[in-house]
Amino acid sequence: MSDGRVANPDGMTEKCGVVGVSLRDRDAARPLYYSLYALQHRGQESAGVITHDGFQQHTHVEMGLVGDAFDQDDVEGLNGSVGIGHVRYPTAGSVDSSCAQPFSVSFKSGSLGLSHNGNLVNADEIRDELANMGHAFTSDGDTEVIAHDLARNLLEEDLVRAVKRTMERIHGSYSLTIMHDDTVLGVRDPEGNRPLCIGELEDGYILASESAAIDTLDGELVRDVKPGELVVLHKDGTGFDTYQLFDREDTAHCFFEHVYFARPDSVIDEKLVYEVRRELGRQLWSESGVESDVVMPVPDSGRAFASGYAEAAQEEGEDLEFAEGLMKNRYVGRTFIMPTQDERERAVRLKLNPIKSTIEGKTVTIIDDSIVRGTTSTQLIQLLKDVGAEEVHVRIGAPQIIAPCYMGIDMATREELIASDRSTEEIREEIQADSLSYLSIDAVAEALESSRGDLCLGCVTGEYPYDIEGEETDRDVTRPEIDGASPLADD
Ligand code: SF4
Repeated sequence: MSDGRVANPDGMTEKCGVVGVSLRDRDAARPLYYSLYALQHRGQESAGVITHDGFQQHTHVEMGLVGDAFDQDDVEGLNGSVGIGHVRYPTAGSVDSSCAQPFSVSFKSGSLGLSHNGNLVNADEIRDELANMGHAFTSDGDTEVIAHDLARNLLEEDLVRAVKRTMERIHGSYSLTIMHDDTVLGVRDPEGNRPLCIGELEDGYILASESAAIDTLDGELVRDVKPGELVVLHKDGTGFDTYQLFDREDTAHCFFEHVYFARPDSVIDEKLVYEVRRELGRQLWSESGVESDVVMPVPDSGRAFASGYAEAAQEEGEDLEFAEGLMKNRYVGRTFIMPTQDERERAVRLKLNPIKSTIEGKTVTIIDDSIVRGTTSTQLIQLLKDVGAEEVHVRIGAPQIIAPCYMGIDMATREELIASDRSTEEIREEIQADSLSYLSIDAVAEALESSRGDLCLGCVTGEYPYDIEGEETDRDVTRPEIDGASPLADD
């Protein structure tokens, strides 16, 4: 960003939220609009909806929060009982409206709309190939690459085969909701890196990144879309068909969805996020519990960790008080106008304020979900000491982040990550904590009731579940060959 805005200066930023609905007797626009509100935490840069009334698409895509992007007339102008929606934080492509989604394209055999959560690692190769074949691109985003590839395959194949053909070529992380004319479908990448679930509404079906969107519409979660599965909603809202297009032995769920990104009230891969976070807190106590007077969360996501941590400590007879000692200013958005590094470093004072009476004269343990660059932790510890904390211990509900994410999380570069080249003791010293511990990878896998081999652990091991140029992989995986020839040439 060139105007002095910085996004989440010491954190990780969620990627995107996607949704798609097919209803029986009413317009899809309002349910889509409400569900985007429920997914707002997954993207604040732009919001959009595309509907189809059986004859044509209706589109409204704007920069900004959902509440700012739509007014009453915008929602009422989106006719049709099927549609898809998207909230976006830019992860691939530039920060402008050309990358806002859903992306739409019209081609010989109909219209196509796409909402994408995730990030492809071979988009450039496919874009170059398609450009050589005469496809004109209007953005540098990877979603447009998927749209063009799918549009091309649809000229030759039926919908299911065309989606499969595109999935054979794209490599990386994706949960997609797609609208082909007036048919809505959802796809999850074969490794299941990003979440996607199906819900039943009173008068139709919904696909959404998180079940909280289904709850918002008074619907029932049916189940997660399986990794490698294509779900096609019936046009009349009466049901859905499914096609298991890929069936990999190992999956690669992003464990940070449960640790940090998702809403605590969402159920992802059959686990309530809030309960997983509490369990992570319990594991944290059992691995590295430290005696102190009070344990407090760094809001918001540290809350469930801290309550699990305190509960496990109290069960062992520890006299440990759980308290909310840090108050968050809810009106500070995700971006700040802070032109200089010095001002960025003051960001924590805008976001968090300590309650002096809870902290003064006490030994304090603070629980957070992660340390990215370390700036916030350093300031926070100083702040707590300034208001009279005798000791400040830090416990982190995830392993050290040592490497960047290529799957759509805006994290930091390797050089910016405090843990990329420092030991835990060196980090402790740098952030001036009295003690510091992270959760082990095994404890994360245990809390998720998953094997390590079914999780993406790229940012905490430096080994990725996808074939990424210049990086190690943790499995036998190679990216598809894109040779510049027509994808249909070998038919
Ligand atoms: S690298 Fe980390 S943040 Fe990115 S998908 Fe994997 S686990 Fe999630």
